[in-house]
Amino acid sequence: MQNHAPSDPQVRPNFVLAPPDCVVCKSRMRFVKSAPIPFSAGLVDVSYVCDECGQGTKRTLKET
Ligand SMILES: [Zn+2]
Repeated sequence: MQNHAPSDPQVRPNFVLAPPDCVVCKSRMRFVKSAPIPFSAGLVDVSYVCDECGQGTKRTLKET
């Protein structure tokens, strides 16, 4: 599955989702944590980090 916009927040139906690729070095990023977004009706911020260069990113996902 190709994803060419890894830094854009996206709402997905569930957590069954491959980690994004690093925008800097194109390595597969590593899941760090997820945190519920207050007052957002089930949305969570999911954080990823790149082990190669330290780049971090977040996705906004819908918790199931
Ligand atoms: Zn990287």
